Amino acid sequence: MDFPFDFFKRNNEPVGMKALLKNADATPVECPACKASTARSALIKNYMVCPQCGKPMRLSARNRITYLVDKGSFRELFAGVSSVDFLHFPGYSEKLKKAHKTTQENEAVVCGEAKIDGMRCAMFVMDPRFVMASMGSAVGEKITRTFEYAMEHKLPVIGFTASGGARMQEGIVSLMQMAKVSGAVKRHSNAGGLYITVLTDPTTGGVTASFAMEGDIILAEPRALVGFAGRRVIEQTTHAKLPDNFQTSEFLLEHGFVDAIVERSEMRNTLALLLHQHERLTIRSQVPKRMVVAKKDDSKRV
Ligand SMILES: [Zn+2]
Repeated sequence: MDFPFDFFKRNNEPVGMKALLKNADATPVECPACKASTARSALIKNYMVCPQCGKPMRLSARNRITYLVDKGSFRELFAGVSSVDFLHFPGYSEKLKKAHKTTQENEAVVCGEAKIDGMRCAMFVMDPRFVMASMGSAVGEKITRTFEYAMEHKLPVIGFTASGGARMQEGIVSLMQMAKVSGAVKRHSNAGGLYITVLTDPTTGGVTASFAMEGDIILAEPRALVGFAGRRVIEQTTHAKLPDNFQTSEFLLEHGFVDAIVERSEMRNTLALLLHQHERLTIRSQVPKRMVVAKKDDSKRV
């Protein structure tokens, strides 16, 4: 993507890179796509994208936030909300405990408020390391609260999705999160709020079928798996051979489901550009959007 405004060029330095490199060493990391080994420090410098084949590797929510936001601007919200094994589903409690231990996270999504190039926004970032970022009651609650917070504070929302879908261990309650979050997205939208989603690898199931695809602007990382049901299930049901690139972000772009595919190294600049461009349309009053654009004072801001 070309950046028509000079002021975006100043953002080219990788934000948060120094912090991420602090504890990095030369431990080799194998690319899941091409199997090439690259030193961890070199990978971090390359936004955790394989230098051999260009495949973006999975990122923890906090590392993603560090790459994106203005230094020191992230303030976490709703960190105390976490899942409970209310159905006493076999093995779920142990699974949650293990996820807490290995990720040091309370849940599969990190929510908060931050600035990107000085622009305030609410954000939620799903973490595929935590029970495959499946959507349970706590994930739905945290994302819903993020939209409600954004409405209250008149902020746009940026959401990074990555999920294996609904969390089966929570039964029907996990499916209800699709409607619950979608309701919050709609209320935020009705109030004039901007919502940008970024689809990352993998975004599947109920998350794809709800808030991942409800953004005003839908971006995706290259070569991300994005779909609803699995490829094999669809082939067996439809008795059709699917194309090789089926359920990739490139396939979705070709078919109009995604607005743009953005390299990780350009993500911050792209989001900054979109936030600046839409600043005039974010919620600033109860006046309908059209009226805000037409206001005399706003005309000076062009
Ligand atoms: Zn590779």
